[in-house]
Amino acid sequence: MNEPTGFDLEAAAGTLRTWLAEADRVLITAGAGLSAAAGHDYGDEDRFRELFPALHRAGLRSRYLVGVPLPPALRWGFWAVHIDDIRFSTTPNPLYQRLRALVEGTDHWVMTSNVDGFFARNGFAPDRVFTPQGDYGRYQCATPCTPSTWDSRPLVAQLLAAHDPATGAVTDPDALPRCPNCAGEVEINVRVGPQFVDAPYLPAGRRLRHWLGTAPADTRLLVLEFGAGFNTPGVIRRPGEQLVRHFPRGHLVRVNPDHPDTPADLADRALPVPVGAARLLGILATPHPAPDPTVTVRAVPE
Ligand SMILES: [Zn+2]
Repeated sequence: MNEPTGFDLEAAAGTLRTWLAEADRVLITAGAGLSAAAGHDYGDEDRFRELFPALHRAGLRSRYLVGVPLPPALRWGFWAVHIDDIRFSTTPNPLYQRLRALVEGTDHWVMTSNVDGFFARNGFAPDRVFTPQGDYGRYQCATPCTPSTWDSRPLVAQLLAAHDPATGAVTDPDALPRCPNCAGEVEINVRVGPQFVDAPYLPAGRRLRHWLGTAPADTRLLVLEFGAGFNTPGVIRRPGEQLVRHFPRGHLVRVNPDHPDTPADLADRALPVPVGAARLLGILATPHPAPDPTVTVRAVPE
């Protein structure tokens, strides 16, 4: 894969290595682009057709179904298959594993708009991952009548047991979920509107604010941003930039093949990396400096 003209990936990787080695603290921030790079692209039509043949026949083409009116049996059939695929697979993801290895031994936190749980499932400390947009692993009352949320794993299992792949529908109406509190409609606990129940995520948000708020002004904070575009820039992109402004010795690395631009006022404290996360992490995973096999190291000087 070629890099954009004029961009030196090796040099960028070198800068990142230096900033990482110098950093007192590392904040990884991530948007949908990171999970897409890890092989979970909601816009991947082939995968969509494979998992949701009936919806594909009906003319739908991607997993971005918010706002698409579907009858409950089809809607919950979609959610069950989608969440089972994205959220509950136990297979380690090589890209996330590589990212974790990169920050191993550093004082780090994760803030992500992703709701797929990949960080915690790949060895990042769950109590240091802030997911302000929610988690597919929970569901809530659609009203909501209560700030309680519930584990979606048994719900997904119940839906899948009644799911007909040929039609994409949940065939048993009794398998469709109801609010355990008011028996009304439920929805997955992700931020799609003002009804979102954010209670499960507030404690991590408070801990992250404390971690940042108690950092000395001269802290060398490295914000390592992956795949955060402009769908919800106020969640990941802007806060990361603001943090680097707040810490004069801080750095921002923005890994994004589509929107790599960094703010002019951050000047050389910001590094745009216009390639995908997989490409960059692949380069970083190779030992550096690479030992030269033609050079024999002598233990005793002549
Ligand atoms: Zn309710």
